[in-house]
Amino acid sequence: MITCGVDIGSRTIKLVLFDGKNILDSAVTLSGSAPQENTERTYLEMLAANHMTRSDVAMTIATGYGRNYFELADKASSEIICHTAGVAFLCPNVRTIIDIGGQDSKVVQVSEQGKVADFVMNDRCAAGTGKFIEMVAHTLNMPVEEIGQAALSCDEICEISSMCAVFAESEVIGLLHRGIPAEVILRGVFRSVAKRVVSLGRKVGFHGQIVFTGGVAQNPGVLEAIRTQVGDPTITTPRNPQLTGALGAAIIGQQTVSQNQ
Ligand code: ADP
Repeated sequence: MITCGVDIGSRTIKLVLFDGKNILDSAVTLSGSAPQENTERTYLEMLAANHMTRSDVAMTIATGYGRNYFELADKASSEIICHTAGVAFLCPNVRTIIDIGGQDSKVVQVSEQGKVADFVMNDRCAAGTGKFIEMVAHTLNMPVEEIGQAALSCDEICEISSMCAVFAESEVIGLLHRGIPAEVILRGVFRSVAKRVVSLGRKVGFHGQIVFTGGVAQNPGVLEAIRTQVGDPTITTPRNPQLTGALGAAIIGQQTVSQNQ
């Protein structure tokens, strides 16, 4: 049985085609200014690339910010539930998930059964999200894909004291004018993002195996900063940390179809 999970986030749309055991195919595209059309086009292109039509997919589940607006989906499901299902599939011993996406960050406590036990989420403030990191990369004129590695090459770190993403961006510009190297600023920015998420997560606690997911988990500089702030060097990221919500949606699709049979 084949199911599809579609995670429609604020920054990116992620799709996973899943057969119950393996990811058959996946896609990541920008949400852009027409997220509904972009989702539909990418979904149909992915099916065509796999020589499938909609009738070959037993169930399509949408999740994420835009989950209620994707008309080709059979159902919508909460992103906390989907992310947890996806991470628990990839990392069966996970007990805490730290997820940083484009516009929110969350920390989820996972039960031994791989279900959501508790969670806390910030979707009100850009500081501590991927969007803020993108703003800084733009200010530094560096690609977001490269800033993590660049920061790892440097031992120095500077303080970013602003609590708001807009003021922090001004602070970054001020630091550049004072001649502080971009790598030093980046380490400060990653520490400030990690501090925010870790202080949010303290409300539910960090227990057992901790897994870092979301688009920002592709940034090794933020991973290092999170390990330092939590005080746990064993925090890992799955191979495709951006896809866990879409994978979880596809897994929930499998469970839903099986229950209805
Ligand atoms: P959402 O689900 O909210 O749309 P994502 O989980 O896709 O967001 O995360 C988007 C964020 O991930 C971007 O704002 C950016 O900071 C970060 N990001 C995306 N791609 C990369 C990459 N290749 N390397 C490092 N960071 C990335």
